Amino acid sequence: MKLHLLDLGRLDYDEGFPLAGGGVSTASNPDPGSSRRSVAIIGALVEHPKIGPVLFDTGAPPNFKELWPPVVQELFAISRYEEEDRLDRAVQAAGHGLEDIRAIVLSHLHLDHAGGLEFFRGRDVPVYVHAEELKNAFYGVATGEDLGAYIPHYLDFSFNWQALHGDQVELFEGFNLVRLPGHTPALLGLRLDLANAGTFILTSDQFHLRDNYEGPQPLGWLLRDHAAWWRSYRTVKTMADRAGAKLVFGHDADVLAELKQEPFYD
Ligand SMILES: [Zn+2]
Repeated sequence: MKLHLLDLGRLDYDEGFPLAGGGVSTASNPDPGSSRRSVAIIGALVEHPKIGPVLFDTGAPPNFKELWPPVVQELFAISRYEEEDRLDRAVQAAGHGLEDIRAIVLSHLHLDHAGGLEFFRGRDVPVYVHAEELKNAFYGVATGEDLGAYIPHYLDFSFNWQALHGDQVELFEGFNLVRLPGHTPALLGLRLDLANAGTFILTSDQFHLRDNYEGPQPLGWLLRDHAAWWRSYRTVKTMADRAGAKLVFGHDADVLAELKQEPFYD
């Protein structure tokens, strides 16, 4: 099994989104101002020996300027989306075409993870997502209660949605998904035990940044369930310590740059 990390562009947002207390005022510093962060949009291509190429998250669509509502583009501003950041080009750089992809696994259905499904419109490739995430996403858009993080363009009945159930799912041999509620009700992290490179855990947005994990400092405005987030933190921490795992956080550009020094891991 081989893991290729995909760099799918950059997103700029207020630090209060990924970090609890980002920009908070205090008695001695009553007006700290708002800081902004530039973060990476990250996906992964896993070459599975039996299944073939599997995608984990898809980034943003190439026509995000048309598809993302203006207010969303103000809050979550894509600041870099070059040719090489396109999902098709990133997959190509890893040695495959989109037509080779046998399965797509989405950690969750937020717009910067599932929006790249646009590349697969009209194809029958199975799209795996946790059942509770699928329900939450359609509900969040239909009621407007979580519109913005989820948007309608890819929440579309034409994709080949495959719902997963349970807290741990070995979807393919050695391709282990772990439910990590907090950022969303049923976000899935991916654990891969690679023969040479050891264990990798792709945490997706349970942790946007290394600071979330190492602080530990919970997510800010992007947190939905505080108590669940702490339980998920313990789940990842215990697993990572036990296995000596390398962690890939959902949006940390520095961690991505370090890990991208190797073309792939096997
Ligand atoms: Zn998210």
